Amino acid sequence: MHAQPRRSSLAVRIRNAVVGGAAPVAVQSMTNTDTADAAGTARQVAELFLAGSELVRITVNTKEAAAAVPEIRARLSAQCLDVPLIGDFHYNGHVLLREFPGCAEALDKYRINPGNVGKGANHDRNFATMIEVAKEHGKAVRIGVNAGSLDQELLARLMDENARAGAPRTAEEILLEAMVQSACDSAGAAVELGLPADRIVISCKISRVQQLIAVYRLLAARTNHALHLGLTEAGMGTKGIVASSAALAVLLQEGIGDTIRVSLTPRPGEPRTEEVRVAQQILQSLEIRPFLPQVTACPGCGRTTSTLFQELAQGIERFLHERMPVWRRDKPRAAELQVAVMGCVVNGPGESKAAHIGISLPGTGEAPRAPVYVDGEKVATLEGPNLAAEFQRIVEDYVARM
Ligand code: SF4
Repeated sequence: MHAQPRRSSLAVRIRNAVVGGAAPVAVQSMTNTDTADAAGTARQVAELFLAGSELVRITVNTKEAAAAVPEIRARLSAQCLDVPLIGDFHYNGHVLLREFPGCAEALDKYRINPGNVGKGANHDRNFATMIEVAKEHGKAVRIGVNAGSLDQELLARLMDENARAGAPRTAEEILLEAMVQSACDSAGAAVELGLPADRIVISCKISRVQQLIAVYRLLAARTNHALHLGLTEAGMGTKGIVASSAALAVLLQEGIGDTIRVSLTPRPGEPRTEEVRVAQQILQSLEIRPFLPQVTACPGCGRTTSTLFQELAQGIERFLHERMPVWRRDKPRAAELQVAVMGCVVNGPGESKAAHIGISLPGTGEAPRAPVYVDGEKVATLEGPNLAAEFQRIVEDYVARM
């Protein structure tokens, strides 16, 4: 069973990327450099973009950061990297966007958090300033609500109304309702201020999986703006990857979400690009978008007592990752390739026949020969020290015919 078709949303053009409408679900990411360090930030934006991030967000939190944005753009342009850049603004976006028109022009989208643009009349004035700048420069905005910085006046009002209601709802329900209202009301206000509806993306991020699913279901039912999905503050390593995958998979399967970000906290020394790889793998596992050839490998068991099986599975995966940037130019369909590397005769031939190319390695006690299947047909039997290289050649020949 495949994912539901995406719910209809307004397509938003952000430089050379399109989010929403009929466009494929886009992958985005965010830098963790000091934006005032133009060289370091441009370097990380380039890494994320080249890893497959179709939009990259940078924080713009100080005057120094805002002043550095045109240089970041120039450095990317010098490398012919036409990266859609999003500026992440909190508290002082109205000031920075007005004082630094070069920053406003160099960015392609402004993230506005309606929970921290000011209180009362200041809120409306500051929000209107950011929308005016977006209109003047022809830019898109994301109304990015976050549970951790929700508009407290709105939340308090909804809590009071709920307390007076005959059948009060839970505090959690009110929190999610406040997030959705904040996002939808802000998007409505932006349209009233003259920003076209097809320049608005919405998000409502929260860090718990079930709450994220609930809030996006509410949001999708109430708006046709394009939606940015992400489990905020997902965490580190396995926890962050699994929690993000669990939340995003449920929503994407229901057709909710036009662009995704996986908010991983990298371990020291871990590349920032890991979040891009995980986002791509979520979309590919759900059969929404292909990015890389996929290797089906059995987990191994007592029948695979040598390390040959793990080494070959790992070697093939590395080979496919290294070759894909080359294939992407001439053989883009290689991203759809399914390769099986199986450990023994029990499931090996069956899985190998089901893949485009599969190899069934000899388990313990089996004859030291590995049958290879291409499109379900046995084409060769490999053995000896060149087995891995010969299998890679068969994969390369197959891609050449795609
Ligand atoms: S295919 Fe063979 S080696 Fe792999 S898990 Fe199954 S029984 Fe074990």
